[in-house]
Amino acid sequence: MAQMKCWLLRFKRFFEPNEAIKFPEITYSFYPVYAKLYDIPYQTVPLKDDFSIDVEGMCESIGGVIFPNPNAPTGIALNLNEVESIIKRNPNQVIIIDEAYVDFGADTAVPLTKKYPNVLITRTLSKSHALAGIRLGYAIGSSELIEGLERIKNSFNSYTINRITLAGAEAAMKDDIYYDQTLNQIIETREWTKQELEHLEFEVIPSQTNFLFVKPTKITAKELYETLKQQEIYIRFFENLEDYLRISIGSEDDMKTFVNEVTNIINSIKV
Ligand SMILES: *Cc1c(COP(=O)(O)O)cnc(C)c1O
Repeated sequence: MAQMKCWLLRFKRFFEPNEAIKFPEITYSFYPVYAKLYDIPYQTVPLKDDFSIDVEGMCESIGGVIFPNPNAPTGIALNLNEVESIIKRNPNQVIIIDEAYVDFGADTAVPLTKKYPNVLITRTLSKSHALAGIRLGYAIGSSELIEGLERIKNSFNSYTINRITLAGAEAAMKDDIYYDQTLNQIIETREWTKQELEHLEFEVIPSQTNFLFVKPTKITAKELYETLKQQEIYIRFFENLEDYLRISIGSEDDMKTFVNEVTNIINSIKV
């Protein structure tokens, strides 16, 4: 990702170097980290009140646009019409759509890469393929964009992918049966967890990812996070989103343990 953005900054045909790249204010925390690391100026676009990405705000960028679809940590996806309007209204900029979580229920923008040569889709095997340990991702876009990536890659890190990773990834991508099975299991467990939390009067934002973004109402988010941490159950609390928590979906057993603990914690407060 970092090498990609650095390259994008230098890709003169699409970019005025030093013009700000736009991304949502609440999003994958590595975007500002890499932008700072590589001295790429950026401008953040606040989310709308319902936590969705502000399509209007993402338009007319000068330095390009990057956003995850679905977004993190909200789990909310834009539909393809919304994605296309961002593309249409950044006609001379590179649009990077980070599809790390797309397989869990959003629509992929891959077909749009045929129509728009300035669109680059990035994917990872870390999420829906459950292979974070092999460190492999890929990009889909016009041959022009991909050629540019190939060119710059060698000046950053020429030996990015080892053979074991490649073999493992190839086998994983061919194994549709196992993939579908695990994907469906995660989605089912996610929906089960959502229902259980709703019974406990949590506000649960409909998720198109492998995590839930929730607001507890019987207890503060911070207190719940701290109490679960003492039981060695780890969920995400964000200082800048203090009413909300992000809960990654684990195995069915993990989520049962989690729901039981949350139930106990909430019941103990009532007393
Ligand atoms: C996980 C993730 C990635 C990439 O993760 P890698 O493990 O580095 O491949 C990219 N974008 C988002 C939004 C993610 O959540």
